[in-house]
Parts: sequence; structure tokens; C-alpha cells
Amino acid sequence: MMICEMEFEKFKTMQFPRDVYVGHGVLPNIVPVVGRYMRAGSILVVTGNITYNLAGREIEALLTDSGYSVHVIKADKADISNLKNIEEEARDLSIGLIVGVGGGTKIDLAKKSAFDMGVPFVSVPTSPSHDGIASPRASIRNEKLTVSQEASMPIAIIADTYILSKAPFRYLRAGAADVISNLTALLDWKLANRLHGEEYSSSAAAISEYAARELLEKSHMVMEGVEESVWLVTKQILASGTAMAIAGNSRPASGSEHLLAHALEMSNPGASIHGEQCAMGSVVSMFLHGGEWQVLANAYSRMGLSIRAKDYNIPDTVVIKALSTAHRIRPERYTILGEKDISTNAAEKALEITGII
Ligand SMILES: [Zn+2]
Repeated sequence: MMICEMEFEKFKTMQFPRDVYVGHGVLPNIVPVVGRYMRAGSILVVTGNITYNLAGREIEALLTDSGYSVHVIKADKADISNLKNIEEEARDLSIGLIVGVGGGTKIDLAKKSAFDMGVPFVSVPTSPSHDGIASPRASIRNEKLTVSQEASMPIAIIADTYILSKAPFRYLRAGAADVISNLTALLDWKLANRLHGEEYSSSAAAISEYAARELLEKSHMVMEGVEESVWLVTKQILASGTAMAIAGNSRPASGSEHLLAHALEMSNPGASIHGEQCAMGSVVSMFLHGGEWQVLANAYSRMGLSIRAKDYNIPDTVVIKALSTAHRIRPERYTILGEKDISTNAAEKALEITGII
């Protein structure tokens, strides 16, 4: 048998969380986690006013009682100026580890600060609203727009389902939609692989698809005020994070539906939350791919998540423009939206058929 003598040059790096605690009452595990991963210095807890009351205070008490020096910063939005403030304040504190306690924005600020400062990051989510709680990307807003930036993968995730179940139901179903929308991200990834030879990982895709299908099939079990529902969604958010870790990028969980989500957020900030925008995006994207978009729409409807732009006070014209131009947001990420603007008529038609406008 001939052995190929060409030099083998492939390489890949994967970073995974080392400890994942998910379930009822897991917060006290912050103490052994810090013991394992912090070599020296003090702990910075990045949280918000509300999330401090939900879990930040308890984290601070658990760590202080264990003899650690703890600094708490209550931040607001995930933007450049807040990020700079955190890093400025942390400069003289010899920080050895950062804990992010909160929903999306506090986790984003914490993981980006940890990345910039070169210290381990622990994610303590208080809202199950999107897959950022277990991913190495942070959405940080600059003067004009929100950009997804490279950040630290959490060294540990402590997701207390009791605390997460206290978040408004809107966040839970949005988190489920963010994972279900992996299905269109995967179609886009395969398309980019076929047309542009973009590197594709079938193991990452299999995990991402499994997570999405689990929630699609069990969408009737995503219910308000039920801790088991939080468990169901959080597990698949973590699986989605694992898929991104294997791929080394967000491809398994972010395609055309996310481009539309970002476009909606930019044109109408705060009208809808990320997972709701992803739900709208995934339905129209599945339609463009020629897939069974009604299956997605039905699952969202079972969870009580509307995909109608009017329900979020987003004007039709805004959604049409967003769909036409969403490809511009990340030109290097090839998707079904293509490389040119979609005509207004075609965008309007796709949005009308799918019931988004
Ligand atoms: Zn997302």
C-alpha cells in the first residue's frame, strides 16, 4: 500500500468549558470553581442592578465568606464605553478571575473583559435568553452598531435553573428560538461549504442540529413558570455552545436568520429581543431555503412566541429593508441571502407568505 508523502498540515484548536453545573441550587459551586481556576489576585464580578439582586449578591457573599477579595461592578449596556470603564476600574485591582452574573449584556461585558485582561471567565447566567451564555463571542455595541467580537470561552458555567426560572417567560422562549434557529444556520453553512468551500464540521453540525430538533419536538414543553422547561432549554443552549466550540466559530448557530436578527436590532433597537428576531429570521430563511418553514412557525406559536413584526411595533418597511440588506452586515459570512441586496418586491413577498408582515 502506498503511503501519501504529502505533508499533513491540518490543525485545529478547540476550547471548551471545563466545569458545567446546570440544575437546581448549583450557585455554591462558584467556590470550588474559583479554587480550581484562579491562581492569585482578586475576583471581579460583573453584574447589573437587577441581576445583582437575583444572583450577584449571593455570589459575592459565597466568595467573600470563603476568604476571597471580591470587587463588584454593576454595569449597564454592553457597549464600548462600559467595557472601557470596567477595564479601567479593574486595572489596579490585580484581577485573577472574572465572573459574569446576568443576562446577555453582563455576560458579554464580562467575557470580553476577561479576554482583554487574559484571565479566566466564569459564566453565571440569570436569564436563558440566548446561546451567548456558553459561547466565546461577545456582542459589543460601538458608536454605530453591535458587533460580534472574539471573547473568552467560559472556563466554567454555573446555570441555576431555579434562578433562571424567575426570569420572564419571554426570555426562555427566546432562548429556545435562538437554538431552534440553528436549523437555518446549518443550511447556510452547508451552502457556503458547497459554493465557497468553507470549512464544515459534520460533528459540530450534528450536535447543533440535535439541540435544535430536541427543542423543536418538545416546544410544547417550553412553559411558563416550570423549572423543568428551563432545564430543557438550558441543556440545549449548552449543546449549541459545544457545537460552536467544536467548529471554532459561530457557524453552527448563526446564519442568515442571525443576519436578519442583527439588521432588525440595528434598525429598531430594543423593539424585540434577540431570540424573537432569530425566530422571525429562521422562518423566512427556511422559506428561502425551500424547507418546511411552517414547522418552525408552529413551534414558535406553541411557545406563544409571535413572529409577526407588528406585535413588536416594527413597521413592515423596516423588516423589508432589513431582509433586503442583511447580507451587508457580515459579507464574509455567505448565506442564502446572497451577496447582493434582495429586491424590495421579493423581500416583501417572502415576508408576507411567511406571515412576518
Ligand atoms: Zn443567537
